[in-house]
Amino acid sequence: MRSVHRVSARAGIVVTGTEVLTGRIQDRNGPWLADQLLELGVELAHITICGDRPQDIAAQLRFLAAEGVDLIVTSGGLGPTADDLTVATVAEFCGRELVLDEAMEERIAAILRRLMGDRPGVDFDAVRAANRKQALVPVGAEVLEPVGTAPGVIVGGSPTVLVLPGPPRELQAMWPAALATEAVQQAISGRTRYRQETVRMFGLAESGLAETLREAQGSIPGFDALEITTCLRRGELEIVTRYEPDGADAYRELLALLRERHATALYSEDGSTVDEQVAALLAGRWIATAESCTAGLLAARLADIPGCSDYFLGGAITYSNEAKAELLNVDPVLIAEYGAVSEPVAESMVTGALHHFGADTAVAISGIAGPGGGTPDKPVGTVCFAVRAGSVAITRTLRLPGNRSDIRERATTVAMHLLRRALAGVDD
Ligand code: ATP
Ligand code: MG
Repeated sequence: MRSVHRVSARAGIVVTGTEVLTGRIQDRNGPWLADQLLELGVELAHITICGDRPQDIAAQLRFLAAEGVDLIVTSGGLGPTADDLTVATVAEFCGRELVLDEAMEERIAAILRRLMGDRPGVDFDAVRAANRKQALVPVGAEVLEPVGTAPGVIVGGSPTVLVLPGPPRELQAMWPAALATEAVQQAISGRTRYRQETVRMFGLAESGLAETLREAQGSIPGFDALEITTCLRRGELEIVTRYEPDGADAYRELLALLRERHATALYSEDGSTVDEQVAALLAGRWIATAESCTAGLLAARLADIPGCSDYFLGGAITYSNEAKAELLNVDPVLIAEYGAVSEPVAESMVTGALHHFGADTAVAISGIAGPGGGTPDKPVGTVCFAVRAGSVAITRTLRLPGNRSDIRERATTVAMHLLRRALAGVDD
């Protein structure tokens, strides 16, 4: 992992909420905002989390301001209840008084009337009084229309403070409007206009890629203008490269080098995932699965791909020899001769899945995810794969590392890649 540091626009995020601080709910706003800022070319300095107490929120604001960030984004604490104090805290921090925005108060009242309808037993005036608080804004602040009932607030300055609601759906929906304001644009005007490209590889160790990148450093002019982040995930390498427009030539050369050195591993140059590629390749086909050690994970993964009902017929999970014989018509003699975890049995499972579900494409996985299921010649982590896509057949046996869940997850990913290769017509 390497990155090139540049001075641009910097930002900090303050996530508020005692329920987030205590871990009762997981923060979804910090990571989401981080992504948005990254895409914009704004450098994110810190994400801090604090509870609902105004002193704590104020301390985070002071900290980030002292760090010299251009923009602070806060999430949470815009509700009508007494513990929601973010706007008042930000107003004090920025040295602005709170004033009632009467037009906003009317709009909030209209929203509430619509939300509540004329439910009997609701004291509308009391609700409205509680919500008057939400129409209190710092003098001179820009106000963002509520997505729920709370308006967002932007106080321009150094730093500019953008106050967003806590519910992720509301925060996300308000983001485009916040971004469009003069104050936010001003705050992030120093941002870098990046291009970002993603390349994905499978079956290459991180060290192999590191070696190629070292080579690139020595041979590609302007290589240092590329900000490359590599991430190992689910046994795949994801390589994200960001560069300013004048880095385009260097990126083209880097891509050419990756193609040359890692032709087999490199499967995506446009950032598309193996799931997306498999889905596209499956168009017009019918697929079925037969799994033992992965216990349906492959089926679940296929079913998670949008539009899966267009191609996924179903899957069989067969642990016992009897289930393999009964559901997939695997000959018990084959199992007795080669063992349940063997290429002949995986191939027989694929044939069974094709027939049982009436598919033209099938994947079978039979392996030992352990613990305790291994033998000297078939240790834990031994997994046999068989794939058929029309006339293309691929069979493989691999030794996968890790514990039971690692082995299952990795086996599922391997199966997706073998499937992709079979569908693309790459024979064994
Ligand atoms: P409300 O009007 O709903 O009170 P609010 O702006 O005051 O909105 P909070 O009170 O901080 O927001 O949070 C309301 C709810 O939104 C939380 O109980 C939680 O379910 C969700 N939420 C808030 N912050 C986060 C976060 N960082 N990540 C995920 N969910 C969050
Ligand atoms: Mg609240």
